[in-house]
Amino acid sequence: MTQITIPRLTVVVPCYNEEPVLPTSAAILGKILQRLMDDHEVTTDSRILFVDDGSHDQTWAQIIQLEQTNAMFSGVRFSRNFGQEAALIAGLQTAHPYSDLTISIDADLQDDPTLIPTMVAKAKAGNDIVYGVRNDRSTDTWFKRSTAEGFYWFMRKLGVDLVPNHSDFRLLTRRVVGALLACRESKPFIRGIIPQLGFPSTKVYYKRQPRQAGVSKYPLRKMIRFALDGLLSFTIAPIRAVLYSGLIICGGALAMLIWILWTHLQGTVVTGWSSIMASLWFLGGFQLIAISIIGEYVGRTFTEVKHRPRFIIQTDTYSPKFSTTQPA
Ligand code: UDP
Ligand code: MG
Repeated sequence: MTQITIPRLTVVVPCYNEEPVLPTSAAILGKILQRLMDDHEVTTDSRILFVDDGSHDQTWAQIIQLEQTNAMFSGVRFSRNFGQEAALIAGLQTAHPYSDLTISIDADLQDDPTLIPTMVAKAKAGNDIVYGVRNDRSTDTWFKRSTAEGFYWFMRKLGVDLVPNHSDFRLLTRRVVGALLACRESKPFIRGIIPQLGFPSTKVYYKRQPRQAGVSKYPLRKMIRFALDGLLSFTIAPIRAVLYSGLIICGGALAMLIWILWTHLQGTVVTGWSSIMASLWFLGGFQLIAISIIGEYVGRTFTEVKHRPRFIIQTDTYSPKFSTTQPA
């Protein structure tokens, strides 16, 4: 981080139908930020920026209400639900011109907000990225834990550099946010992009807490889609896997052909209706899988070239507060 004596901090909180938990989260985050401001660790116009990802409940009304009680709270509202990654990008993009530091954290406070001062201190010590890492996930269900572990393991095997057990609780300095925003893919897999950007980084560890209130916004279907997006946007390893399996199958077929010819020359008649059917079905299935994997990548290219906006902001109460301030 370039030496800034007192940095301006914006805490970015994506919210999707978080009505049950938002007042608690705002109170806890507000107290932590107020303490940092009182201690002159961050500027007194630092903010907590809620990004309402098209909620259907009272989330936005609550954000407005919070803002009326304390100017430290502000919000950005999407025109519809665009997903957590889009909400994070929107929050960072909105905060970027005015914030020396940003910290992203989930609204349900499963990540430990009391680490925020430590993260700020680590940024001041020269780190551009501070990753929040869960060293204890015992409060997660067995299913959530094992699928997450399996995902991290698989991605690392495929050469995607992920910080294990880190999700979206992290501090970024202005220049990292700038570098992240320069990555223009329509569905950014943020936790995969950040480690690729470089910059000095460090980690802070915490125990993952159960959700304070409300329900998880990631049912199995969404989790699978998220994992697939991460995988397919970061590596072409699946296409390569198809290529290798294709080569192995062709090698096997060639060996079989030689064997058939050999037995034929010996005068043995080769029978085998069932083996023909089995290989026919196997190859048919394999070809379908291969085509669909390639199709996934072609589909992604199709989405990418349209250059549609990653999100649409309907209301922004954050930027006007700084409209008289020159973006730094
Ligand atoms: N979230 C969002 N848009 C979505 C889904 C989730 O902004 O489409 C937010 C959600 O409000 C929360 C964070 O992303 O602040 C993480 O979601 P959640 O806690 O439900 O995920 P889990 O912890 O169960 O993986
Ligand atoms: Mg959660």
